[in-house]
Amino acid sequence: MEILADYHTHTVYSHGKGTIEDNVKVAISKGIKTIGISDHGYKHLAYGIKLKDVQKMRDEIDLLNEKYPEINILLGMECNILDENGNIDINDKITGVVDYVMAGYHFASKPTSLRSMLNHFDNYLIKTEKAKHTNTKGIINAMKNNDIFVITHPGDKRDIYIEEVAKVAKEVGTRLEINGHHEFLNKEQIEKIKHINNKFIIGSDAHRPEHVGNFELAMKVIKSSNLDISQVENIRV
Ligand SMILES: [Zn+2]
Ligand SMILES: [Zn+2]
Repeated sequence: MEILADYHTHTVYSHGKGTIEDNVKVAISKGIKTIGISDHGYKHLAYGIKLKDVQKMRDEIDLLNEKYPEINILLGMECNILDENGNIDINDKITGVVDYVMAGYHFASKPTSLRSMLNHFDNYLIKTEKAKHTNTKGIINAMKNNDIFVITHPGDKRDIYIEEVAKVAKEVGTRLEINGHHEFLNKEQIEKIKHINNKFIIGSDAHRPEHVGNFELAMKVIKSSNLDISQVENIRV
């Protein structure tokens, strides 16, 4: 299997263990053609990037692209879906600097209102059906209102109606991630949506350099769900 790209890797700019260059070196050693650095959005209360670092990361990546011409290094961001209106932690300053935006649900993202704060409790303590509807609405609105390249680990941290999410993802051209670290999408989800013909991406979600390009778990999920491999954009078998 050839890995064309790993768009989902973290560094010390959020809570990864390695530097951008460490991730790049591992990607080169694994023959990966494109690597994306996608640290957590700034409204993640525990691990978010500092806004002042975004330009620093851009400059660092521009220099590394000159130093390592054998690989294409991109700056992305893994934004947080913050509420049911689909707000994510992005602003003009960030969109002007990053190459792509991913978004997903995370614990410890900063609520935008009392209502979105209560939804955290609904999700984590009570796990109501109402919360599942609200979560689904949030992802759908996030895809409609922002230019999102990939939804990361759909269904992880917050339960969603995956068929509804997949239909809108197909309409707006957003990819769904099969995450190599958290088992989402999982076999059951893929079996429910594979007729919709979405585009899929595998992401390692590496938090350590040595995990860059670690697609083993995702490949197991793909095989067990009998997903047509040609729908997965970033590998070639
Ligand atoms: Zn994530
Ligand atoms: Zn991640």
